[in-house]
Amino acid sequence: MARGRIPAIAAGPRAAPVPKPSTHGGEFGLIARIQARAGSRPDVVLGIGDDAAVLRVPRGQELVVTTDTLVAERHFPRATAAREIGWKALAVNLSDLAAMGATPAWASLALTLPRIDIAWLDAFVGGFMALARRHGVALVGGDTTRGPLSVTVTAQGLVPRGKALRRDGARPGDAIYVSGSLGDAAAGLRVVRQAAASTRGAQVLRARLEHPQPRVALGLALRGVASAAIDVSDGLAQDLGHVLGASGVGAVLEVDALPASRALRAAGASTAARRRLLLAGGDDYELCFTVPPRREPRLAAIARRLRLPLTRIGTVLPAPGLALLDARARPVRLRRAGYDHFD
Ligand code: ADP
Ligand code: MG
Repeated sequence: MARGRIPAIAAGPRAAPVPKPSTHGGEFGLIARIQARAGSRPDVVLGIGDDAAVLRVPRGQELVVTTDTLVAERHFPRATAAREIGWKALAVNLSDLAAMGATPAWASLALTLPRIDIAWLDAFVGGFMALARRHGVALVGGDTTRGPLSVTVTAQGLVPRGKALRRDGARPGDAIYVSGSLGDAAAGLRVVRQAAASTRGAQVLRARLEHPQPRVALGLALRGVASAAIDVSDGLAQDLGHVLGASGVGAVLEVDALPASRALRAAGASTAARRRLLLAGGDDYELCFTVPPRREPRLAAIARRLRLPLTRIGTVLPAPGLALLDARARPVRLRRAGYDHFD
């Protein structure tokens, strides 16, 4: 595995005396800096420093595993601060765990860096671990290589056996809900591109892009309540489409019921542009979920406890396809359902 790696300070056979890791350079210097801040938990039998981590899964729990990569320019503008990249790299993974109803536990980090930059690394790890600490996640391993900036995180969580929220459980008649508000991050990307973050509203939108809050507590609360769930990362219409496809059903969405933040409403987009942001914006990291009508009354208490709006936006139908209707039940056309890397 030597190719592409950042040259180590000390190369040589494993039998040779192990040199002290440098703190100012080399692959092992970087790893030592990460290790010093990785956090721990009682169920980490062995963390960073061996060939692999050893983790204890409690009896009766299932392990939920997810991986997401962030590539410079594709997933974040090149000018993004290291701290925000670190935060977001973990956030997008915790969002996937949230969508499964899993409690986050551990993460590993595969980091490809163009050069050794200690200040950048420290800021990156600072952002990553700030979110990790918030959710009690220990960083238990990873890999460090040289190349174009790219960050791959694998996050692992726990769920009681059989209780994971899946995409394939939506049934005709279920209500469709979404948490928080949609479209802010996509509008925030515009703010960043135009370097126009002067107003309070623009700052709110930008923060939604760079500091997504994975809906972990909501995912846990939805165990035994939601029939299906997904996190909205590539645009609501597209991600809801995955739920409908997996469940073999269709749906009608009320486009004018989609929750827009005050900042988004104040951003001055046309109706058509705002609908596009709400339906296909991407990077929202809200949860979209379906609920059988008899369990809907439980949602009010969950929303109150979490101080998180939960908005009913549509209904699951037996026939495949996603119909978009406005407040007067007229069809709404959408050019692109969401983000696709190979479009
Ligand atoms: P190996 O060559 O056996 O794969 P490495 O030298 O790549 O081991 O890594 C040494 C230790 O440091 C391992 O425990 C690995 O998980 C950890 N590690 C390497 N890179 C990172 C990273 N970017 N973040 C967290 N842990 C890392
Ligand atoms: Mg090894």
